[in-house]
Amino acid sequence: MGYVLTGATLIDGNGGEPIANSAVYVKGERIAWVGSAADLPTEAQDAEQIDVSGTWLMPGLIDAHIHICYNGSESVFALLEKHRDELVLEAVDICKRTLSHGVTAIRDVGGEQFIEMSLRNAINRGFIEGPRMKLSGRVISMTGGHAHFIAREADGPDEMRKAAREQIKAGADLVKLMATGGTATPGQDIHASQLTVAEISAVTEVAHMMGRKVAAHCHGTGGIRNCMLGGVDTIEHGTYLDDETADMMVENGAALVLTLGAGNPDLESYPLSPVQQADAERRKPMIEQGVKQIRQTIALARAKGIFLGIGTDAGGNPLAPHNYSMARELELLVDNDLTALEAISIGTRNNAEILDMADDIGTVEAGKYADLLLTNADPLVDIRNLRDIAAVVKGGKKV
Ligand SMILES: [Zn+2]
Repeated sequence: MGYVLTGATLIDGNGGEPIANSAVYVKGERIAWVGSAADLPTEAQDAEQIDVSGTWLMPGLIDAHIHICYNGSESVFALLEKHRDELVLEAVDICKRTLSHGVTAIRDVGGEQFIEMSLRNAINRGFIEGPRMKLSGRVISMTGGHAHFIAREADGPDEMRKAAREQIKAGADLVKLMATGGTATPGQDIHASQLTVAEISAVTEVAHMMGRKVAAHCHGTGGIRNCMLGGVDTIEHGTYLDDETADMMVENGAALVLTLGAGNPDLESYPLSPVQQADAERRKPMIEQGVKQIRQTIALARAKGIFLGIGTDAGGNPLAPHNYSMARELELLVDNDLTALEAISIGTRNNAEILDMADDIGTVEAGKYADLLLTNADPLVDIRNLRDIAAVVKGGKKV
């Protein structure tokens, strides 16, 4: 029973040397055996053999920071004017597209009207195609805080606790806080802290009691510091990480989820609408500064040994469409001096840890779901080859 994918060069996600002429034995939804084709166990020899030689096989990519309910090409304000059904229908298409780009799991860190919960349930029940999902529900911000127009606004520890519990009640797998200003909200200072340590601690306490991690949007250093004092698990963006806050992250075992494409939008590969052009113009100085800054932040985080994850922030602003965005994220990691192999491990194995799904996904290993990405060219020679997709497999089924 099952099938064997034979002949691909295997990049298993653990960061080791690739295995040429590999075999991956898939039984049902999961990987039963993986190794060199020469060592294929007898049991697997009777299964259907599918020759995939000439391809590179790796774990499906995982997007650790995405907004699946927003299309990333219109302003969120415009999207909020639309009928909910329209958002749902477009989001169904985004789910399909995301999966077809080799992204087999996502962590949504800011949804809309809990549409994302329905999407997750529909995918799990097989009604629609899409990646596996971990969801935060609505973001929680202070009154008037970053992305307040889509947020559950809350002030003071009591309200923050209630806001977090509301998300968990609605089906959230994690809780998302807005701890500093952000560029997607016009007129904000990205250095300004927006939540007190007491407010953050109130959320981490109730979330952790219910087995949920807390993710926090942070650009400014003060916000990162508050989050570390408040016990946050993952810092999103983390633009102005400094020596002290980097040490605090290591001490706490907190992870940094980089979002490089959001800070360095891909303005060349698709025609910009007037809305996008205006947004590009408005954010130009922030983007230029941000690109320089994040280079230092990545170097610092690596020197300190901070656990890194990565996400696209696709949907998070009008210059973040759901294109080949995870491939681009990994390309930008390589531009920041990581090897292609390191970038792939961050986008697969590390992100699986961030999603609390490391037992099930993130590497090509026996026992895990057969969530696979096969490319026609070697991504280790040129990381852009991640866009040259031969096949995507989720739970053993070809997409
Ligand atoms: Zn975001």
